[in-house]
Amino acid sequence: MDRTNIVICGAGIAGIATAWSLAVKYSQSNIVLIDRQQPLSLTTSKSGENFRDYWPQPCMTALTGRSLELIDQLAAENDDVFNMRYSGYDFVSESPGQEIFPSDHLQNPDNEGNLIRVLDQDLIRRTHPWLSAAIRQMVHIKRAGALDVYALGSLMLALAKQAGVKYRQAHVESIEKNPSGFYLRLDGADGRKELATEKLVLCPGPFINEFLSMLNIRLPVESILQRKFIIPDPLEVIPRDMPFTIFSDAHHLIWNEEERDLISVDPEFCWLLDEFPAGLHIKPEGRANIKLGWAYNRKPEEPRWENPDDFDFPNITLRGASRFIPALSNYVDQPPTPIVQFSGYYTRTPENLPLIGPLPGTGIYTVSALSGYGTMAACGAGELCADWMMGARVPAYSRYFHPGRYGDSGLMAEINKTASDGQL
Ligand SMILES: Cc1cc2nc3c(=O)[nH]c(=O)nc-3n(C[C@H](O)[C@H](O)[C@H](O)COP(=O)(O)OP(=O)(O)OC[C@H]3O[C@@H](n4cnc5c(N)ncnc54)[C@H](O)[C@@H]3O)c2cc1C
Repeated sequence: MDRTNIVICGAGIAGIATAWSLAVKYSQSNIVLIDRQQPLSLTTSKSGENFRDYWPQPCMTALTGRSLELIDQLAAENDDVFNMRYSGYDFVSESPGQEIFPSDHLQNPDNEGNLIRVLDQDLIRRTHPWLSAAIRQMVHIKRAGALDVYALGSLMLALAKQAGVKYRQAHVESIEKNPSGFYLRLDGADGRKELATEKLVLCPGPFINEFLSMLNIRLPVESILQRKFIIPDPLEVIPRDMPFTIFSDAHHLIWNEEERDLISVDPEFCWLLDEFPAGLHIKPEGRANIKLGWAYNRKPEEPRWENPDDFDFPNITLRGASRFIPALSNYVDQPPTPIVQFSGYYTRTPENLPLIGPLPGTGIYTVSALSGYGTMAACGAGELCADWMMGARVPAYSRYFHPGRYGDSGLMAEINKTASDGQL
């Protein structure tokens, strides 16, 4: 049987960032990173690749802030191979009174220059002529933008390998705890193998519950399928320098009377008349495409390795988007082709905070439940997990992400006080 010091299960952005921190920051040797498929090919490859360092929950602002510091440093040291662009986020609303973000955050001097609220409707129309005239409020986040997550992950993997991390392609079939650590059964191209390790880190994305049940652990994590798509923009509706733009209002889709009558009597589709959540988002993609996403699905499911395209999703999302960018209505009934769809899971806790650190009383660590923010948070999360494993000082925000937080009713009451979970 092979033996090693540290095994990390899962080579998505979370597992790779953790391996990178352990090997590069802490010079740990004998680390094996295991994945049943190509690195970065499951949820990570479906990311919209957006980042921001402001969140309604201050602990998330701190985590993503630290993560972006690490990413900035990687960009500076490696010729910006992952094309980090600070193009900003614009949250827009039809209501001047709607609290897009808590007003005390907007007034907080720490956010000055980063969060910019605009209530002058004429100014919004002049500077953002593509938006609907009904938009009455905008909050711009400056330290926000996009990057190439595959290139970022590949860079961290290369640096981790240079520092001695070994990558092994195999399916982790089972794990048993024993007095000296853990014993894993693997199924890979070289057949069935066994591997013993002292320390174990779980980063299996949507399959975290499968791993936890191998070890008789339960945590409140669910996976919800979400989608994005890319289409050409032949009418040049979206300016190439438009920030990532998010509609902050829940709303109903616009239908004509005939459509409404037909939908209302169809049990399969009558949900299309319900209110849809805030958070529909759109951005320019490459030279001539646009990318849209809308996490309106709220149904948790058992994760699957592959999911078929949903042919209604582009139409529904374009219909929703035409509410705040009216010229998109030209694409609603016949979206320009090709339509490229991506689907993956937001694997999340009820409060939408990740799980980072030790699983109490087990000797196991995790970086999981990274929901819709794993691209931007992974470097900070991987570093925090490595800090825990090495017994280093951890930052004050670490308690909000500790997997043992559910046993602390005071902390959970504080967490649950935040009105918005920040999901897009
Ligand atoms: C549609 C969509 C849009 C998103 N947009 C953004 C965005 O704009 N910005 C942002 O920051 N985040 C975004 N995210 C979130 C981000 O993509 C995820 O949080 C992140 O990719 C999760 O990374 P991970 O490493 O935890 O999981 P994964 O990437 O899923 O990696 C887990 C790995 O574990 C492996 N694995 C699982 N089980 C086993 C097993 N038994 N044996 C061996 N290997 C196993 C899998 O093969 C996989 O490679 C988005 C997510 C989705 C779905």
